[in-house]
Parts: sequence; structure tokens; C-alpha cells
Amino acid sequence: MKAIAVFPASREVKLIEQVEPVITQPDQVKLRMLDIGICGTDKEICTFVYGTPPAGSEYLVIGHEALGEVVEVGTAVTHLAPGDLVVPTVRRPCPHARCRSCRAGHQDFCETGDFTERGIQGAHGYLTEFVVDEARYMNPVPRHLREIAVLVEPLTIAEKAEAQLYGLMQHRPPWIDPAVSERTLGRGRKALVLGAGPVGLLGAMALRTAAFETFIYSRQQDPDPRIAVARTIGATYLSSQSIPTHQLAKHIGPIDLVYEAVGHSLLALEVLRELGTNGIYVLTGVPGLQTMIEADPAALFREMVLKNQVVLGTVNAGQQAFVAAIADLDSFHQRWPHAVRALLAGRTPIEQAVERILGRPGGIKSVISF
Ligand code: BGC
Repeated sequence: MKAIAVFPASREVKLIEQVEPVITQPDQVKLRMLDIGICGTDKEICTFVYGTPPAGSEYLVIGHEALGEVVEVGTAVTHLAPGDLVVPTVRRPCPHARCRSCRAGHQDFCETGDFTERGIQGAHGYLTEFVVDEARYMNPVPRHLREIAVLVEPLTIAEKAEAQLYGLMQHRPPWIDPAVSERTLGRGRKALVLGAGPVGLLGAMALRTAAFETFIYSRQQDPDPRIAVARTIGATYLSSQSIPTHQLAKHIGPIDLVYEAVGHSLLALEVLRELGTNGIYVLTGVPGLQTMIEADPAALFREMVLKNQVVLGTVNAGQQAFVAAIADLDSFHQRWPHAVRALLAGRTPIEQAVERILGRPGGIKSVISF
């Protein structure tokens, strides 16, 4: 069967042939892969700045934004059956007894760093025809989400961030509002999303759903399908071609929340200066190799202290975030069907996957389909 693999030592990315896996443990399932999304992390792995093959392997099969169909289950698996659609969690726990997070099922908060991530860190991914995996990491998806469920994994970024935010807000006096539930945590608040890629646009959908007045700041100019999505979901689009970062707060008013989804350190730093009093700044992008920048940390930290600001880094995601993302994707799709589908304009067969990953994206979210 076919797979896309990265060979870091020889700096190659290529289509390989592998033996089809078989179930060897009673708690496993076998999946036929359907759709695999490509993100910035995959591009970094394919340019050899990130990612690690499994121990003893010279290559890593990539792909972590996955949708699969169960084709076979082990004898101990009772909650899944052939024909079910599933999205797997990416991060898997470290083996250490001392890691409280992993032992409690919160491997996205792993304390030792010895976690694995399918398709990224020490474990093969899903950009291959069949996969055998542990049933407990499979998140069932309703059949009517078949065409869009590849967006679940990137949406878990926003789901995890929102869960973190809600807890944080309830302890910060200017944010505390007993009338506000987790579902309406943005009422009366302004959020700025940096980046109009899939993570930014899905994050904006989540913020709109949580009642934030939402702004999206990115480099595209009209006409652009990303801007159309932003408008459809009721967000205000601001182009960096016409508004410099230092005028963002002037344009928007006090910014309560920034949801950074670009992974560009200079942009992230410049916009941090625009964050409002008592504001929260959520970093989700993973910057790759970038040029060094000059900064004035004294001024930055002074402002952060005097304005009670919070900077929160967040990596996706635990099982709860996957469950929440599946439910929210369904509700986004009911509310904005065209906007959700617009994220997935094109699908590419595995034979052309390497060109797609290394070259121009296909649509807003590139998807490799089997
Ligand atoms: C993945 C996460 C992963 C992170 C860092 C992201 O692209 O979605 O699951 O933890 O990269 O490796």
C-alpha cells in the first residue's frame, strides 16, 4: 500500500510502498484512510526542520489531520464497528509514571516531553492507505460530516484554547460574569484572529459561536475566498496591506483577546503591543526557522505587567477537545454551510501529494484523499 514518508537523513520526501498492517492486539482497530489534511507542521516536517521518525526507522510517514473508516475491529473493541467514521487523536501519552498529565489522560499537557505524536513525533502518521491503531484514541464522527470531518483536528486547536480561556476568565475580575456560560464567553468582548488560514478561520468560527465580536487580520486583499469566509461568518476582515499592526487597536478599539494562528514571530510580537488592558493573547502557531528580530522586552513586559495581560501558549489537543470539535463542526456547518465547505475547495490524490505539500496549496485547506 502507498504512503508518503519523510527521510530526514537523506532529505527526501516520497511516495513509498508499505506492507498493509494487520490487527495484532484485541484493543486495536484497522482504518481505511479517507482524507488527510495538510498543515504548516507537515510542510516543516517535509523541509526537515521538524518531526522525528519512530525509534529504529529511517523514515516518518506523515499526516496527522485524519479521517478514516473502520474496516475491522479487535475482539475487545465494543464501541466501534466496521463502517464507522473516526478522527484519531494525534498526541499519545509518555510512558512515565511520574507524568501526572499523561496518566490522567491529558497528554497534551505532558510533563516529560516523551510523548509521541502520530505523523510528527516518534510515531508514523495517517498519510497511507490503511492504519492499525488503538481504539481508545479514535473519535467517532457522524456519517453526515463525511465531507468536512477532516477539519476536526485543526478545530481542536480552538476548542482547547476556549476551554483554557473560560477557566482563566472566570478568575479575572474584569472578565467574570456569572451570566456568561462557556458557550457565550465572548459576549461584549472583542477578539482579533491573526491569520486567515484554516486554523484562523475555524478559530474565528468558534469565537463567533462564543459571541465574540471577531476581527480577522491577514495579508490577503479582496477578492479572496478567505475574506468571503470571514464575512459570511460575521467577522470583520482587516488586511495587513492597508492597516499596519500599530494601528490595529485604533481601528478595533480595546482588544480583549488575540488568537494567533500564523506562527510568525515578528507579527505575533508586534500585535502583542496592541493587546488591550486585561487582555489575553493566545499563541497557537509553531514558528519554524525565522530571521532574528530586535525587540524591546523591557517596554513589552512593563506594559504586560501594568495591563494585567496574559500570554497563553496552547498545543492541541486532548480527547475532550476532539469531542467538542466534532459537535461544533456540525453546528458551524448548519449555520454557515458554504463557508465551511469553502475551506475544502480541492482534494488531491496520494500520487500528487508530495507536489501539493511542497508546492502551492489546493484551496484554503489542502486535503489528500484516497
Ligand atoms: C498538530 C498537533 C501537534 C503540534 C506540534 C500541530 O500541527 O496539530 O497535534 O501537537 O503540531 O507538533
